[in-house]
Amino acid sequence: MSIKIPKTQKVAIVASSGEDIQVKNDHPVKSQADLAPGECLVKLHCTGVCHTDLHAALGDWPLDAKTPLIGGHEGVGDIVAIGSHTSASPVKVGDRVGIKWLADSCLHCEQCRKGREQNCLDAKLSGFTVDGTFSEYVVSYVHHVTPIPEGLDSKEAASILCAGLTVYRALKYSQTNPGDWVVLPGAGGGLGHLAVQYAKYMGLRVIAVDSGEEKKKLCLDLGADHWIDFKECKDIVDSVTAATDGLGAHSVVITTPGSGYQEAVGYLRKGGTIMAVGLPGKATLDASIFFTVFKSISILGSYVGNRQDAIESLAIAACGGVKCHFSVKKLGDIQEVYKEFQKGTVAGRVVIDMAL
Ligand SMILES: [Zn+2]
Ligand SMILES: [Zn+2]
Repeated sequence: MSIKIPKTQKVAIVASSGEDIQVKNDHPVKSQADLAPGECLVKLHCTGVCHTDLHAALGDWPLDAKTPLIGGHEGVGDIVAIGSHTSASPVKVGDRVGIKWLADSCLHCEQCRKGREQNCLDAKLSGFTVDGTFSEYVVSYVHHVTPIPEGLDSKEAASILCAGLTVYRALKYSQTNPGDWVVLPGAGGGLGHLAVQYAKYMGLRVIAVDSGEEKKKLCLDLGADHWIDFKECKDIVDSVTAATDGLGAHSVVITTPGSGYQEAVGYLRKGGTIMAVGLPGKATLDASIFFTVFKSISILGSYVGNRQDAIESLAIAACGGVKCHFSVKKLGDIQEVYKEFQKGTVAGRVVIDMAL
């Protein structure tokens, strides 16, 4: 099968860290002959936009992104070419695949062998250390692109590839069992509303913490068992404890920057787990060591997910267990989207439709 690949394409690019993102129409597309073994070229249908993309563009993380940078790591599209001499490719030309934050890993180091591919020393990161999905065509890697289940719409799948995958893995490793209570601060947000649904799918009981009538309705509609408005609530520790038979919650999954580690140690039951997943650039963890020890609290971090986590999180979305709330934009709107991110006025996730 031979697919016509243009020489140039439309991309959104940041020339150097901190500069505005610009849309360009004449960015080169790699030809099949230019692809290295193991690389594939994907023609994108759509891509999600993530807060991480804004961090990468601003350069406000303790890690450096490449520049010039094409951001984006929630892409869905069709494989249109695979590098010559690629061996044992699990995907073929014509397959619909997803591109996630972890673009590639070596698959042979200790971290990869243990299934922690995202911690591979040779990890390539989409839209950070390699160009990402804010483009019509993206080069990715046959061993790490994620097959998209049939029947799952590309735009529905996009945000699962980062936001969904991230909260899914965090819940999976939160040391909880069906019936346990999990607290979700920021439950009405982009990551949070997916976390509520994955948690319910896993049989957990959810205490949604956020603010405002709209977010309250969203969380309760998605199945949250208990709602706490943190702006109206006088004492979050008391509120969570009262909702959990006076014993406290089993786990808290923290997706929002700087939100209450101190309180979390207070409202978790003995043996409870704090799972950190948000990636604020500078915030530090502030919690009582005495009570962390005395209550046998585990403090854990979970960073995106591996290939298997991606497949599992998409499978749950494909069978209707999780539905992402998103608005659709075009690539030319991206500067505006970044501005809204900075103002904190974006409800749900944002997906860019490449056909627009
Ligand atoms: Zn992301
Ligand atoms: Zn590795």
